[in-house]
Amino acid sequence: MAENKNNKIKEVCAFCGRDISQVKTFVPAMFQGVGVCDECLREINKVMAEEHRHNHHSKTENLDLKTPKEIFEFLNQYVIGQERAKKILSVAVYNHYKRLNYLNSGKNTDDVELDKSNIIMIGETGTGKTLLARTIANLLNVPFCIADATTLTQAGYVGEDVENILTRLLQNANYDVEKAQKGIVFIDEIDKIAKKGDNPSITRDVSGEGVQQSLLKILEGTLVNVPPEGGRKHPEQKFIQLDTRNILFIAAGAFDGIERNIASRMNSYTIGFSQSLQRENIDTEEFLKYAQPQDLKKFGLIPELIGRFPVLTSLDKLDAKALKRILVEPKNAITKQYQKLFEMDGKTLRFEEDALDYFVQTALDYSLGARGLRGIMENVMNDLMFSIPDEKSQQEVVITKQYAEKILVKEVLGLVK
Ligand code: ADP
Repeated sequence: MAENKNNKIKEVCAFCGRDISQVKTFVPAMFQGVGVCDECLREINKVMAEEHRHNHHSKTENLDLKTPKEIFEFLNQYVIGQERAKKILSVAVYNHYKRLNYLNSGKNTDDVELDKSNIIMIGETGTGKTLLARTIANLLNVPFCIADATTLTQAGYVGEDVENILTRLLQNANYDVEKAQKGIVFIDEIDKIAKKGDNPSITRDVSGEGVQQSLLKILEGTLVNVPPEGGRKHPEQKFIQLDTRNILFIAAGAFDGIERNIASRMNSYTIGFSQSLQRENIDTEEFLKYAQPQDLKKFGLIPELIGRFPVLTSLDKLDAKALKRILVEPKNAITKQYQKLFEMDGKTLRFEEDALDYFVQTALDYSLGARGLRGIMENVMNDLMFSIPDEKSQQEVVITKQYAEKILVKEVLGLVK
């Protein structure tokens, strides 16, 4: 406030001191002559917003911890079979978030350091690896992202930088750094970046090893500079720093042919067993469950990377029984979804048992696995989805094997029986 010669009170901004005549908008205060100008208000708002963001982010919220049994039971609602993997995952995830809450609590003054329990899953494609990881993220309500290891490149080469994985996590966490730092990253096709060793099924050259090395960078639990928009690094881009120490990494791969490594390792312990193992046709399922870190090493993963995934588990092949259960049992089973869609039109939809068996058999015959079931059903259901809404008098729709076969054999597969 200032008084001019005529003893008239002059109105000035209390922050920048400018006269009311020099500013666009002026917010007067209780004291005569004092106020705030629009520009200063904007500045104040900025400071307040930053303060709010900071407080919000530095708040270390504990996650609602679920016990291994609760995790297991939740998984049961969505994932069929895979009991072994479910059990191992339940414990690993429980320990991971228990450790995280413990670190948050500030009680970690003793010298027992709890290691992180990143997980690696071995199993054929379409057996539920992604589904397991996604379901866990849903249960815990933490950000989740999927990365495909085959798109990654060694630092400096054409392709995707490993940091972009974290960009996706950050985006899925709506750029809430604190949330992203507790998220789950699923790295698929980890077997495809194996270095070319004595494994003939790997066609990739030595650069696989380079990619593994760059992955270590984000696995090691350090601050990583993440480009908020992804893409290639360029100097002008501002980075967001992400601490990866508490991010749970779940890697997965089919590791085609690894059963031979396992078999031959076990073979060297089991004298007299060797004859049967010489044969080409080794039952994958039998051996996968005995997978050990050294088998991954033999396959072409570098020991440093393997060391970052202390929890190892495998998934079983899905047989006809499992595939049929997948059609009807999960909370969001495909048949339930169709029934819901029909219900919305006021119709009931029923599948006869042998129609379901037929879907399963087709998936098996064409090696389509669980993923193929949806496609098969989609084909069978499409005509009905097209015509039924107009069939006002028809209340119930029954899918018989005969109908399914007619559509699939003649119209889709183009086969004549
Ligand atoms: P993977 O990651 O092992 O290649 P996914 O988890 O992506 O396989 O599975 C593909 C789809 O198949 C899933 O979205 C799900 O619909 C179905 N599916 C696969 N395995 C199972 C399972 N064990 N239980 C229920 N559904 C499954």
